[in-house]
Amino acid sequence: MIIHIGIDDTDSPNGMCTTYLGALLYRELSRLADPIDLPRLIRLNPNIPYKTRGNGAVAMTFKAEDGVVPRIKDIVLFYVSQLADFEHENTNPGVVFLEGEVPEKLREFSLKALREHVTIEEAEKTAREVGAEYFKFKLGRGIIGSLAAIGYPLESFTYELLAYREQENWGTPRRVNEESVFLADMWAYPFSYDNVDPYKRVVLITPHGKDPVLAGIRGVDKAKVLQVFEMVEFEEPVAFYQLYKTNQNTDDHLVQKKIGELKLYDSAVVRGRVAGPYWEKGRHVFFELEDETGKIRVAAFEPTKKFRNWVRKLLPGDEIIAAGGVKEHDGVLTLNLEKFYPVRLVPKIEHRKPKCPRCGGTMKSKGDYLKCKRCGYKMPKKLIPVEVPRDLEKKIYEVPPDARKHLSRPLVLPGGEDKLVELSEQPSG
Ligand code: ATP
Repeated sequence: MIIHIGIDDTDSPNGMCTTYLGALLYRELSRLADPIDLPRLIRLNPNIPYKTRGNGAVAMTFKAEDGVVPRIKDIVLFYVSQLADFEHENTNPGVVFLEGEVPEKLREFSLKALREHVTIEEAEKTAREVGAEYFKFKLGRGIIGSLAAIGYPLESFTYELLAYREQENWGTPRRVNEESVFLADMWAYPFSYDNVDPYKRVVLITPHGKDPVLAGIRGVDKAKVLQVFEMVEFEEPVAFYQLYKTNQNTDDHLVQKKIGELKLYDSAVVRGRVAGPYWEKGRHVFFELEDETGKIRVAAFEPTKKFRNWVRKLLPGDEIIAAGGVKEHDGVLTLNLEKFYPVRLVPKIEHRKPKCPRCGGTMKSKGDYLKCKRCGYKMPKKLIPVEVPRDLEKKIYEVPPDARKHLSRPLVLPGGEDKLVELSEQPSG
């Protein structure tokens, strides 16, 4: 019999990680049954507020003798009950088992959990309809992610190798030879990516929290990912590691929408016109984008660093395609920008002072008249409009790697531009 297992919401900022539990279970259960493919790390809607970090859930599938299935379920429930961080109020684990084929209805639920907000009740209803067995611990919100991870189509995917720390090191700074990461990355990029930020000269594979993850190595080629892992010099013991298949960096979360359709927690790609000049508040850059259905505030927040400079170059009237997540900021629905593509840019006009008509000297502004610096000639202040080049190209601009959402596809990968380019090929509305 085929048995699918989904687990989610076992961790908190104080420790644990659902992938750690998943890796332990995958290893343990592989002794009892045949794994079908690697375990799956499925990232769901990045905009929902309950997430600890990246809204990840874990699923795995085995071919098992019918008689072993009850033991498999017992082991999963035992591990979750022993290892989940129950102390934290925001940790509400959920476990789901599904036997046999994945029904279409579950696929649809999965995509909804990826792109919108769903409730625990909706998850329970879907579980009953598809005949999945679910177990809720505390509020049991984790059944949303568990069910979605089982049903996820995973048509496009990448890999992440997760290496874990010995328990005695949890909570201490991670020890990895940084030079070795840069070397490995040079060798494997872009088949393995996001290992370092070359501009800031920082290593990205090591997280900073109290969780058991020592490092995460991402890539589209699993051999390259494994080789990077071998090349990196860890200066503390690696307890064990697991390669996951994942929907990270697939852009699966983005769907085309009209601005008027955007709801809180949606992830979307929209096409619209910049409605007015940008403004700044607390190092965040904002502007408004409109189409024939409505208007939304768009934000490039402080952590997106230099990306904000590109946003500052947009002018009212520019037509752009914008991708991002919808959140509430200061009580206003805001599209949190991940990437944008300028489709049509308005001309940029600067008003310049003319040269002195008498001697060709430079004119200086004096209130409402101009005065020549050389010969003193005075004339009314009439500036000349001059079209200057726009310093934005017709290309996609994306946030830097450390500000990028797990699901967002980096431009360096094939297909990283597709979701935006598709929309640029349609006639404007
Ligand atoms: P980590 O990345 O370390 O695994 P996390 O960021 O995944 O942590 P969780 O602890 O899994 O955070 O919490 C996310 C919670 O949100 C889970 O309970 C999950 O079931 C739920 N959830 C996932 N997707 C949605 C959605 N679309 N709508 C509502 N709830 C969701």
